[in-house]
Amino acid sequence: SAEVIYGKQLAEDLRQEMKEEVSALHTKDIRPKLVVVILGEDPASMSYVKGKQRASEKIGMDSDLIELPVETSERELLDLIEKLNQDPTVHGILVQLPVPDHISDQKIIEAIHPEKDVDGFHPANVGKMMTGQDTFFPCTPYGILVMLKRADITLEGKHVVIIGRSNLVGKPVGQLLLNENATVTHCHSRTKNLQSHTKQADILIVAAGKPSLISAEDIKEGAVVIDVGVNRVDGKLTGDVDFESAKEVASHITPVPKGVGPMTITMLLHNTIKAAKRIHNQ
Ligand code: NAD
Repeated sequence: SAEVIYGKQLAEDLRQEMKEEVSALHTKDIRPKLVVVILGEDPASMSYVKGKQRASEKIGMDSDLIELPVETSERELLDLIEKLNQDPTVHGILVQLPVPDHISDQKIIEAIHPEKDVDGFHPANVGKMMTGQDTFFPCTPYGILVMLKRADITLEGKHVVIIGRSNLVGKPVGQLLLNENATVTHCHSRTKNLQSHTKQADILIVAAGKPSLISAEDIKEGAVVIDVGVNRVDGKLTGDVDFESAKEVASHITPVPKGVGPMTITMLLHNTIKAAKRIHNQ
């Protein structure tokens, strides 16, 4: 039976280290600060941003939550972002996406100064990641990379198969692992004979948002399985992998919940501290 990789435990360890780093920065009069902006009152988005704020406070990091009405205009939001870009006390800016339909997500992403883009979505930062440069990496993909490394899983030369090609998860996690010298295959909704690909994977990353898409018969004996999916089935949180059967063939597997999820916010905290250090030349 597979070793279960608990992102939750790792996230707690990393946040403890970050708490110490933040207090060390405070002694140098550097106060890392994250500002999260949310439009409207969508309960899922609200619970995400509250989680981000709580996590910031827990490591002693300054954080502001700016709640705007859903009818806020694109101009008003762009003006606010510009104000935050100019504010020297702010190091990380995050606008909770998606924004309402009358505002362009892409315009908002591109308005945030790349040095404060702690989500790692700005095309300048995406481009840096593509070309193997250091920058802010998107939080979920980065969290997956850190989990694999901390679990001592060799990436070089491994065949990584990713199900999913979104800009949020699939594409960037593939790029980060390619940068680590893995051989990367992306599958997606138009891929033919999915199982013929997943069966080849030394490391299988599933980010499709489809409950039970993957089970034991899709997995090569001894593979590492990372389940990114978050689905609600009969009121219960579940991933994209049938955990019970998969753990009998995999060597390592992440659960849902307590797997990849807690790593995402952790990497957001990491990126904000990094932004503060860069802005203050530390
Ligand atoms: P998305 O809907 O943007 O992308 C899903 C991808 O999966 C697409 O590229 C699609 O082609 C592919 N896909 C869908 N059905 C497929 C199928 N049957 N066979 C092969 N490929 C298929 O979603 P996303 O934003 O990339 O998120 C993916 C999942 O990860 C969701 O469940 C989401 O909730 C979850 N997620 C979790 C975290 C976290 O922190 N744990 C963060 C982001 C997203």
